Amino acid sequence: MRERKTREPVPSPDAARPDLERLATDMVGDRADAWDLAGELPRDLLRELGGKGLLTAQVPAEYGGPGLSSVANGELTAHVGSLCSSLRSVMTSQGMAAWAVERFGDEEQKAAHLGALTSGQLAGVAFSEPGAGSDLAAMATTIRREGDTVVVDGRKVWVTVGAYADLLVVFGRYGTGAAAVVVPADAPGVSLERVADPLGCRAAGHAGIRLEGVRLPADSLLGGAGLPIDWLVTSALTYGRISVAWGCVGILRACLRAACGHAATREQFGVVLAEHQLVARHLAELHVAQEAATRCCEHVSRCWDEGSPELVTAAVTAKHLAAGQAARGAATAVQVMASAGAGDGGPVARAYRDAKLMEIIEGSNEISQLLLGKHALAVWS
Ligand code: FAD
Repeated sequence: MRERKTREPVPSPDAARPDLERLATDMVGDRADAWDLAGELPRDLLRELGGKGLLTAQVPAEYGGPGLSSVANGELTAHVGSLCSSLRSVMTSQGMAAWAVERFGDEEQKAAHLGALTSGQLAGVAFSEPGAGSDLAAMATTIRREGDTVVVDGRKVWVTVGAYADLLVVFGRYGTGAAAVVVPADAPGVSLERVADPLGCRAAGHAGIRLEGVRLPADSLLGGAGLPIDWLVTSALTYGRISVAWGCVGILRACLRAACGHAATREQFGVVLAEHQLVARHLAELHVAQEAATRCCEHVSRCWDEGSPELVTAAVTAKHLAAGQAARGAATAVQVMASAGAGDGGPVARAYRDAKLMEIIEGSNEISQLLLGKHALAVWS
């Protein structure tokens, strides 16, 4: 009788998540507040985390990434977000750059740029301009073909990771449409100016970038050049929105940990704070905020993993809900901690400043509401 061979089950790439989370925990340690106060993340740490796949965890193995699902990368992002929102911002930016290359690049571009990003090179994604914030269709940056080169001219603002970047994925006008181009940060004609003293995510390396007659080989232009600007931008932003939403889950978890720890130990009026019902209500609200944001994020990540047509709306919904909950939740946590949370150099004060910015980036609250209002009308009227 022939022996039946039992096949070893192939482990899912998602099995790598716990190791990546441990790596983040170990490498951040208790340093997030010091990085926030200094406004700087250690570059060797960013390169090491990048080279170990943490910053581009959804990039498939064939391009050197861990190939996590969106759900697993989301939980990883929340974990990093609970430790340090500046580092999570780098993760969002790096992941968005990688996604733009994966989505629009040809095979050679993917091999080159994704290989670089998964080996520890760092990337910023540049949409915003002095005259084009919420209204990205007003972008004035131009990308034009000249023979076998492309020339980029324009000015970008608030580029996360800009100060650390080796590469910039720059969006601009291209003929009557739009294009994205991969620009080495040290290319002649590129200069940067760091954003001084940002309110939050202070160590994320925000910078303004000038591009003056930057001439690059034509293959720096990602495929799809000449696409409608909305289409190009929405595709890249969808990744960013999901990542920011999960980062907000992390902020809420950090706030829960700090506020519950404090309320369980600090005594006033002869009992611990948690026994005062109004304080307990704050904790309950934080718990509900974290649960709601997590479930909404799981839904959008499943949409991503399953290729659901709901993805774009689910991403706007998740980012809108999670950012609002994080901003209110961080304020609640400060309230529970009171003077113990009121000084810079602690996780709750940091969360309070970081969370507010989540209501501005990847589409502000108001822009999300406009998009979701249109969606509601289309579905429910
Ligand atoms: P504006 O567009 O001037 O808006 C000002 C206010 O008006 C907002 O409240 C807005 O919601 C409201 N508003 C505008 N239009 C409407 C409307 N039609 N209806 C109702 N309300 C409206 N950009 C990048 O390209 N890359 C990055 O990596 C990046 N990282 C960032 C990180 C941080 C921490 C911050 C703060 C910004 C970052 N940005 C980045 C820029 C960010 O995308 C923009 O700040 C954002 O799009 C809003 O643009 P704005 O600041 O010019 O505000």
